[in-house]
Amino acid sequence: MKSDVYLIKVKTNDLEERCDSLQKLLEKVTPFRDYKKDEFIPVKLTIGDSQCVYNIHPELVKIIVSDIKKTKAKPFLFDTNVIYKGERLNAVDHLTLAQSKGFGHAKVGAPFIIADGIFGQDGKEYAIDSDYIKKIKVPSFIGSLKNLLVLSHATGHILSGYAGAIKNIAMGMVSRPTKQVQHSSLKPHIIDKKCTACGCCVKICPAQAISFKKEKAFISQAKCIGCGECLCACKFYAISINWSEDHDIFAKRLIEVAHFMLSKFKNKFFITFGFDITKECDCISTKNELIFSEDIGILASQDPLSIDKAMVDLVNKDKALFKETGLLETHKTMFDYGYKKGLGSLDYNLIKI
Ligand code: SF4
Ligand code: SF4
Repeated sequence: MKSDVYLIKVKTNDLEERCDSLQKLLEKVTPFRDYKKDEFIPVKLTIGDSQCVYNIHPELVKIIVSDIKKTKAKPFLFDTNVIYKGERLNAVDHLTLAQSKGFGHAKVGAPFIIADGIFGQDGKEYAIDSDYIKKIKVPSFIGSLKNLLVLSHATGHILSGYAGAIKNIAMGMVSRPTKQVQHSSLKPHIIDKKCTACGCCVKICPAQAISFKKEKAFISQAKCIGCGECLCACKFYAISINWSEDHDIFAKRLIEVAHFMLSKFKNKFFITFGFDITKECDCISTKNELIFSEDIGILASQDPLSIDKAMVDLVNKDKALFKETGLLETHKTMFDYGYKKGLGSLDYNLIKI
């Protein structure tokens, strides 16, 4: 069955015009009409890393928050900590960055919450019976709220080829150990010269896989279960993961995690901004990042697979831009596997507003 994907074309970098278009889209689609008074509405987004200037603009988020508030529901913005060095590695720095990038409560009208706690370890663990993921750790509110709104910025991605709604959910809504597991089936290793022998990783490892050798921590690859807890525990960036994961397996893990996460919400809605479509995602891009596609506009849908597929189709419409820019075509695996797993539809009606 085809899903509806709404498109409002916007081909300007004028913020006012972008805001007007978003307003028009919301008036036409009315995605928040079923929200009830006092219901919490989690709004997933990423503020981008400190050097990123192309993340979703806070003014656009403000419009969405204000529209939700008309229903008397209570929106809150949320994200989780990342697994690499930077200003989103812990909740304190992450919130400070959010404030400085214009995502403070006073500016956007809703609080911004780091849902996996100060060090990205908090959450509830579930066992799942999937082919590539067996355990998943998620912020504890997941499972107790009915609605989910996902705001994504369309970009390329170093592993999955495309980063939109699915990537935002699968990687952005889980606690750090599950991020690590998705990124790598190989085990973390110690960077000797950075290890201060503080012992925090040894204490936290659930598999007793870490010991000291010559006054440096050492991970037994035989004992390690790849949980990623040590990665969160080390405050000296002395534990590294393998970034050269098999791309197709990475894409399949994203799908399995996204599928699980979305099963926990009854009403889901996705809005993706196809402006300033950078080759790298908002975690990596800087102001010098390659913009590899002309602006598309704003897409909205209840189907995460359809909205991602539609954005990639629109980007590739005239030329195979993903191919030309050397971006991996892993998104095809992601979409096919997403369809197989029942995440959504690959066929969609593109409804132009
Ligand atoms: S937590 Fe980091 S610095 Fe401390 S012992 Fe483990 S690897 Fe070394
Ligand atoms: S990934 Fe988990 S099991 Fe492996 S060394 Fe780190 S804490 Fe221990």
